[in-house]
Amino acid sequence: MPGAQSTRTGGWGARLRRAAGICAIVAGFVVPAGVLGAWLYWQVTGRGMVPAYVIRFDLPTAQRAPDLPLIEGPADASRPLVVIDAGHGGHDPGASGPGGEQEKVLTLALAQVLRDALIAKGRVRVALTRHDDRYLTLPDRASIARRLHADLFVSVHADAAENPAAIGASVYTLSDRGSSALADAVAARENHVDQVNGVALGGQDDTVSQVLIDLSQARMRARSQALAGLIRREGQGHFRFREDPLQQAAFVVLKSLDLPSVLVEAGYISNREDVRLMQSPQWRADFAQTLARAITIFLATQSETPP
Ligand SMILES: [Zn+2]
Repeated sequence: MPGAQSTRTGGWGARLRRAAGICAIVAGFVVPAGVLGAWLYWQVTGRGMVPAYVIRFDLPTAQRAPDLPLIEGPADASRPLVVIDAGHGGHDPGASGPGGEQEKVLTLALAQVLRDALIAKGRVRVALTRHDDRYLTLPDRASIARRLHADLFVSVHADAAENPAAIGASVYTLSDRGSSALADAVAARENHVDQVNGVALGGQDDTVSQVLIDLSQARMRARSQALAGLIRREGQGHFRFREDPLQQAAFVVLKSLDLPSVLVEAGYISNREDVRLMQSPQWRADFAQTLARAITIFLATQSETPP
C-alpha cells in the first residue's frame, strides 16, 4: 500500500509536471501568436497608423501661395485686368451689423455685382480674389493680384463705427507712411521679382534701387488717388459718401502692391439704413455702375498716359 501510495503520488506529480510543460509550450506559442495577431490586426485595419480621432486646423497660408482665381470677361489677354477683392471671409466675418449682418457676406455680394458690371462693359478682364466664403490672408490677396499681373486692385469692405449714426461710403488709398514698409516688401520679394513697374532693379546699387522704388511708389499713390477721385466724382448723386470720403491709411492689403489700388468702404454696416441699402439690389446696381464707370475712365486715361 505504501508502494501503491507512492506510485499514485508519483503519478500525480508526473501529470502535474506534464501539464505544466504543456502549458508552458502552449503559452510559449499562443501568447506571441496572439500578440502578433493583434499587431497585424492593428496594422491592417489602420488603427495602428492613425489615432482614433483627428483634430484638423488650418495652417497659416503665408508659406503657400493661394490658388489663382479664374479670369473672367474678354479672352483677349491685352485687355486690362481688374482684381476685385471681397474683404474678409471664412472664419473672419469682418464687422457685423445690428441685425447680425456679416461684412464678409456683403463684400462678396458687392464684389460680384461689380464684376458683372465691369464684364458687361466688355472692355476689361476681371478676377475675384474669392468666389465663396473662404479665408484669405491679406498678403494672399495682394499676391493674387501680383501673380495675375493685374492692372488695378479694388478691395471692397463695409465700415463700422461705435457711433450708429455714422453713414456713407469712403475710398482709401495707401498713405505715405506705408511707403517704407512697401519698399521693404518689394525688397523682400527681390529674389523672385527683379522689376518694379517695369523698372529693372538688377545691377543698380542699393541707393539707386531705393530711389526708383520711391519714385515708382509715389507714382502708384498718385494714380491710386486719381482713381479714388474718379469714384467720388462718378458716385456723386448716386450714393452717399461720408464726410471727407477720400482717405489715406497704411492698409496691409495695399502695402505690398506695386499697382494702382484702392480700398472702398461701401457704407457702414453698423448703421441700419446703410446696411439696408447695401443689401438692396437697386443700391448694389448703382454702386457697381459707379465703380465700373470710374474704373473704365481711369484705365482709359492710364493707357493714354506714357508710363
Ligand atoms: Zn473690412
